Amino acid sequence: MAIVKLEKIKNLMDISKAAELLLEKNEKEISFSINFKTKDNEIVFCDAFVVYHNVVLGPAKGGIRVDENVSLEETRRLAKIMTYKNALTELPFGGGKSGIKIPNQNIDELTRINIFKEYVHMIREELFLEQYIPAPDLGSDPFDMAVIYGELHKPECVTGKPVKIGGLPGRLEATGRSVATSTRLFTEEIMKTKLEDLKLAIQGFGNVGRWTAYFLNQWGAKIVAISDIYGGIYNEKGFDIEKLFQYAPTKNITISDYPDAEKITNEDLLEMDVDILIPCATGGVINEKNAERLRCKVIIEGANDPVTEEADEILEKKGIVVLPDFLCNSGGVIASYIEWRNAKSGNQTEKEETFSEIDKKIIKCFHKIRETKEKLKISYRVSATYIAVKFLIEAMHERRWL
Ligand code: NAD
Repeated sequence: MAIVKLEKIKNLMDISKAAELLLEKNEKEISFSINFKTKDNEIVFCDAFVVYHNVVLGPAKGGIRVDENVSLEETRRLAKIMTYKNALTELPFGGGKSGIKIPNQNIDELTRINIFKEYVHMIREELFLEQYIPAPDLGSDPFDMAVIYGELHKPECVTGKPVKIGGLPGRLEATGRSVATSTRLFTEEIMKTKLEDLKLAIQGFGNVGRWTAYFLNQWGAKIVAISDIYGGIYNEKGFDIEKLFQYAPTKNITISDYPDAEKITNEDLLEMDVDILIPCATGGVINEKNAERLRCKVIIEGANDPVTEEADEILEKKGIVVLPDFLCNSGGVIASYIEWRNAKSGNQTEKEETFSEIDKKIIKCFHKIRETKEKLKISYRVSATYIAVKFLIEAMHERRWL
C-alpha cells in the first residue's frame, strides 16, 4: 500500500478536486514490446512499461524493475510511490517507474545487454531529453545502467551506474543504508533501546536486504533470520553478515543452504517472534492471509509496498508499528540525486559523504513524520503521506497547475 488513500488525508486537510485529480492520475504511460533474436536463434519477446505519475517537482525518477510479475498496474503503483518518496525527501524529481516483464534469473549476458539496448531504442527520446531518468530496481543492476549510458552517452540520463563510469560511491549500498538508519532511529528514538538488545529478521538478500543487514550488523544488531527467494535461515545467536557476503557474494547464489543455521521458509521468517521485521524483497508479502499471525513489534519497510492495505489495518489493530517504505528505502533515490547532480556539475563525492547526506535527509524526514504523527495522532504512514501531499500541493500552486 505504501501510501494511504487520499480520502484519509482529506480528513486532515482541504484538498481541491483539481489537486486530487492531479495526485491520482498518471501523467504519462508508455507500453511497448522488446523483441529481438538471440545468438541461438531464439526470439525474445517481453512487455515493457514506463509510467510518469506526477512530475510537478521535476523529471520522472524511478528504477527499472525486471521481473516475470511486472505489469502496467504494478508499474503505476510504483511510480506513484516515487512521487511521494521524492516529495517527502524534497528532491527535485517527479514520480516515475519502468518495468520489463521477463524472469530475472538466468538471463545470459548477451541477452541482457540486448534487452537494455532495445529498451533504450524504444524510448530513446524520453531518456535523451531526461524526461524519465532510470536507475536499478528489483532485477536490474549497475551494469544494466552502464548499457543504457553506453547507448545515450549522457551521464545524467541514468543513475546507479558503476562507479568507474560516473556512478556514485555508496550508491550500491544507499538503499540499505537508509533502511538501516531508519531502523536505528526507530530503536533509539521511539523504542528507547539499543540495536544490540533486539532480535531482527530480514527478508531478501539482494541489494537492499544485504546492505541493510550489513550496516545493522556493523552497528551491533543481532540478525537472527534472513531469506531469499529460495528460502531462509535462522540462528538464534545472530549471523555474521560479512561471512554471509562471502558465502553468497551475489544474489544469484542462495543463502538458504548456509551451514550453521536452521532452514526456514519465507513464511516462517515473516511470522517469527522478533522485535523488528524488515521485508526487503518484494511487494505484498504481508497481506490479509498472514498479517494476523505476525509476532514482530515493528516493521521497517525496506521493499516497495511489502504490506497490503488490508494487512496494514490488521497490523494497526494488533499494535504492530509500521515505518513506511517511502521514508525507509529513499536512500536509493537520494543517492541517485547526488549522482545526477554530479553528472551535471562534474563534482565528485566520497562514499562517506554519500552516507552522511542520506543519513541527514532520513533523520530530518523521520523527525518531521514523528512530529506530525504526534500532533495529529495518526500513524507513521498517514503522517508521511500527509507531509508529501502538502508539499506536492504547494508545488503545484507554485507551478500554477492549481
Ligand atoms: P534484488 O533483485 O537485488 O533482490 C531481491 C531479493 O529478494 C533477492 O534476495 C531475492 O531472492 C529475494 N526475493 C525476490 N522475490 C522474493 C519472494 N517472493 N520471497 C522472498 N524473497 C524474494 O532487488 P532489490 O534491488 O534489493 O529490491 C528489493 C525491494 O526493494 C524491491 O521492492 C524494490 O522495489 C525495493 N527498492 C529497491 C531499491 C534499490 O536501490 N535497489 C530502492 C528502493 C526500493
